[in-house]
Amino acid sequence: MENPIDTILARAKSHCDEVIKPNVDAWNKAGIWPRDASDKAAALGLTGLYAPVEWGGQGLSLGDGIRVYEELGKGDGAYAFALSMHNICTYACCGFGTEAFKEKVAKKLASGEMLANFAITEPQSGSDAGNMYSRAKINGDGTWTINGAKAWVSLAGEADYYFTVVKTSDEPGHKDMAMIAIPAGAEGLTFGPRYDTASYNFLPLSEMYFKDVVVSEDNIILPIGQGLQGSLMAIDIARVSIASGCCGLMETALDTALAYARDRKMFKGRNLDLDGIQWMLGDVATDLEASRLLYRAAANALGTPEGPVMAAHAKRFVPDAAVRAANTCTQVMGGSGLLQEYGMDRLSRLSQMLRIVDGTTEISRVVIGRALQKRAEGLPAVRIPKGYGE
Ligand SMILES: Cc1cc2nc3c(=O)[nH]c(=O)nc-3n(C[C@H](O)[C@H](O)[C@H](O)COP(=O)(O)OP(=O)(O)OC[C@H]3O[C@@H](n4cnc5c(N)ncnc54)[C@H](O)[C@@H]3O)c2cc1C
Repeated sequence: MENPIDTILARAKSHCDEVIKPNVDAWNKAGIWPRDASDKAAALGLTGLYAPVEWGGQGLSLGDGIRVYEELGKGDGAYAFALSMHNICTYACCGFGTEAFKEKVAKKLASGEMLANFAITEPQSGSDAGNMYSRAKINGDGTWTINGAKAWVSLAGEADYYFTVVKTSDEPGHKDMAMIAIPAGAEGLTFGPRYDTASYNFLPLSEMYFKDVVVSEDNIILPIGQGLQGSLMAIDIARVSIASGCCGLMETALDTALAYARDRKMFKGRNLDLDGIQWMLGDVATDLEASRLLYRAAANALGTPEGPVMAAHAKRFVPDAAVRAANTCTQVMGGSGLLQEYGMDRLSRLSQMLRIVDGTTEISRVVIGRALQKRAEGLPAVRIPKGYGE
């Protein structure tokens, strides 16, 4: 019998070849989220990767399911990213949602009938998430009233639920954070104008505003006290998912440049016969192999004490490698690399976007640096030259 992950990876590959690759340029021109495409992904099981079978999901582990974005990322990194965020919300719903919320929503999310996204960023707090302003007030009847604003909300106006991180007091720090699922139709929920982005125009992005939005306590996904830890776990999954999508992007860049270099005639031979070209593409191939090993190790570490730092290693290394890959492969193709039809410009912009979203490269370095400080504390003493430790 075929392993379930092999079946899902084969379906993701066919979705990429038949739906994403032939249409992504048209999606970008239209500037509209291709709901018919995500419906097709849903029919293949790609919207319920980690949801248990009882909720209509595929029941995959994070370590296995995250590999799907490598396949989707061969077609488009932003599309892969949006589906990864939906799957993380579905995972959170099934794992942490109230029974009432699961009964109402879990199957619809897992089946892709409904889409969800995660909203933590605010205009004044991106990397500095602790500086969050959005507040939930807990009312006498248990409902929550939410006021504030989020920024860079993906699937803005398209998702059916926004898994939103809020603070519940004016106390500084993170202890009062919580996550609540806000339905798209909630009174007082509005969106700002669409951001005008370069190369992932079909992904609706905007600010999201809450003015006295009242939400049932059934919709609490992470209660006060678990909001920070749960959100960090969601972000770790997102970081590794992005690294997975980047590997797909690198493979597409490499294969495009290879096929071009194989057929480009120059100096009485082929572009690919030049040592310098082979070395450039060889470096991309090495980066791709290393990136794959790293994100898969990080995916398997999620949920263990090593998860956060492994996710940071993957998010630090792989999108940077993808930026290098897209630029190198463009260079290999000379002027042709700049022509729209080869898609290299799109891959360059996407790889840069993937360095920023869900924790920038620099924030990954901060996480790794803190882990190294901790590790240093456990190391045996070494000799410090006289006067150096004072
Ligand atoms: C396409 C796209 C989709 C997105 N979708 C979502 C979404 O669906 N939901 C959501 O919540 N958010 C989303 N985001 C937001 C994203 O997660 C933030 O953009 C990201 O966390 C960075 O925040 P910022 O843009 O405010 O940058 P800032 O935090 O202002 O950072 C500016 C610069 O300072 C650097 N920096 C920050 N701290 C340090 C430090 N300690 N040391 C050194 N340098 C530092 C950063 O690396 C960066 O280079 C999306 C972003 C993009 C681009």
